[in-house]
Amino acid sequence: MLRVALVGFVLAWLFGPYALRSAVPIWLPFLIALGLELQFFIGALRAAPPRRPDRGPQAVDRELYGYADDTDELLLVRDGDDELWIPYRGETHDEASALIAEVREQAEEEQAEPEPDWEERHPPGPPIRGFLAGLGVIGALVLILWIVESHTGWGGLDAKTRAAAEKRFSAEASRIAGKPVTIRCDDAGTRVGAVQHADGVAVVGGNVAYLTPERCFDLYRLAFEGEIRSSRTARALAVLAHESWHLRGVSDEGTTECYALQSGVDIGVRLGLLAENARQMMRQQLTENALRGGASLEYLVSSDCRDGGRLDLHPDSDQFP
Ligand SMILES: [Zn+2]
Repeated sequence: MLRVALVGFVLAWLFGPYALRSAVPIWLPFLIALGLELQFFIGALRAAPPRRPDRGPQAVDRELYGYADDTDELLLVRDGDDELWIPYRGETHDEASALIAEVREQAEEEQAEPEPDWEERHPPGPPIRGFLAGLGVIGALVLILWIVESHTGWGGLDAKTRAAAEKRFSAEASRIAGKPVTIRCDDAGTRVGAVQHADGVAVVGGNVAYLTPERCFDLYRLAFEGEIRSSRTARALAVLAHESWHLRGVSDEGTTECYALQSGVDIGVRLGLLAENARQMMRQQLTENALRGGASLEYLVSSDCRDGGRLDLHPDSDQFP
């Protein structure tokens, strides 16, 4: 059940909506799955009693003879070649003899139908086998994930293409920043992405900004393949513009985002969108911005972000963004 859930999640993460990918770092479900497998394994090990090689009667034998709980002392009696364990509570010799006979009878019955020994009833296989199977599933999923990720998306592009794309994005960012700046696609995932939960990162007034590989790939598809993925393309344009405005020196997030959604139209057109499409996309982004809340509240644009408002970059135009 756990493994089915993990497989389902990985498939959804790989091929499902982008929101899932950006909301949950992929290592998290693997970590949880690994932890649960370990817990099951350790739990199974604890449940199985350790085998004691001592020569006294085993719990199994005590149960067998019906003295599981009330045995005070057991006496080893040799009867010919057999060894018998007799519960002894200070009986007289005769009583003890009767007991010996009784136990012996039981032992003979037992021999006719031998009880499977501990090893057979509790084979040592299942816990470790189950654990190894779990590790196998996790390992296979990691491999699939790695293959799919390295052959698709930004990571699947060759180095030359990626360099050309970064150069193109940098040129667009430089126009907004008003100085030569560099856009890097952070394929190592060290600065943006899974850990930081951000689409991009830039130092205010700096010269370099980093975008997630996902955003870079959406920009690449638009600029180099002419592929448009509606809201994903729109978001990627907005992120590139947003970081560019930070590089220009704007620090307030709401103001930066307001400028970015206006500049996103220009970038979109230069990367191949029709002007009307580009405007429509940025308007959509503006609408979504208003619906945001919670953690991204600081990115909320102010009421000045409107046609003719204080943040309107083109006050003479009646189009916004
Ligand atoms: Zn920002």
